Amino acid sequence: MTAITLKGVKKRYNKSLVVYGVDVEIEAGEFIVILGPSGCGKSTLLRMIAGLEEITDGEILIGDRVVNQLEPRERGCAMVFQNYALYPHMTVGKNIGYSLKVARVPKPERDARVMAVAKAVGLEALLDRRPGELSGGQRQRVAMARAMVREPKVFLFDEPFSNLDAKLRVAMRSEVRKLHRQLGVTSVFVTHDQTEAMTLADRLIIMNAGRVEQVGRPIEVYNNP
Ligand code: ADP
Ligand code: ADP
Repeated sequence: MTAITLKGVKKRYNKSLVVYGVDVEIEAGEFIVILGPSGCGKSTLLRMIAGLEEITDGEILIGDRVVNQLEPRERGCAMVFQNYALYPHMTVGKNIGYSLKVARVPKPERDARVMAVAKAVGLEALLDRRPGELSGGQRQRVAMARAMVREPKVFLFDEPFSNLDAKLRVAMRSEVRKLHRQLGVTSVFVTHDQTEAMTLADRLIIMNAGRVEQVGRPIEVYNNP
């Protein structure tokens, strides 16, 4: 089953194209990494899938629905950012549960779901803390829990581990792979780090200067640079 279909997806800022027309099909359950140098359009492509950026031309399908006109929250995707994007005045628990509160999920169900995802990422003892009292790794776990709590089918990661030290980055990669498998979701992960890409990806999308240069399994891409 296809989870995400990109058909001739383009993005123009002012007068110049930054994404030239991307055609890719992503299978349900795949872990896809978009790899390429800074400024090549990776983040823009991801943000178009999320609905945070309008597309200039083409079509994006999630499942069998064309989502071009849908709001981000209607797309069944959750995004995890490099800078965590947490609410500083809210506790960890409130940060994680906020989207459920907005969606008027009743308090008992909200509590149970917040606790379940907090446990899954090892945050259950920190629910009453504020983001400012947490380490970088813990903040990134909050960001992941907040994405998970809405039970999305698709996870979108925008260089989520770039601010973490090398050791933690390696640990978080295996956590993300584990959660991906446990939850049975489709993941699209943007990075400029080749090692990170090779470690995480079922398939790589190699981008350069706004174009997709290669799509394939790490071993295939590695053997045909
Ligand atoms: P990457 O994620 O690969 O680093 P981006 O998708 O962030 O690349 O950016 C691709 C190109 O689009 C860059 O040249 C960047 O300067 C440009 N760009 C990104 N956002 C905007 C914007 N809001 N307005 C104008 N240009 C932008
Ligand atoms: P609200 O009234 O917005 O739900 P709370 O501070 O009571 O505010 O809770 C916010 C979220 O944090 C809730 O969804 C709750 O599940 C979670 N939470 C906070 N502390 C705990 C805790 N000790 N055990 C379980 N869940 C907690």
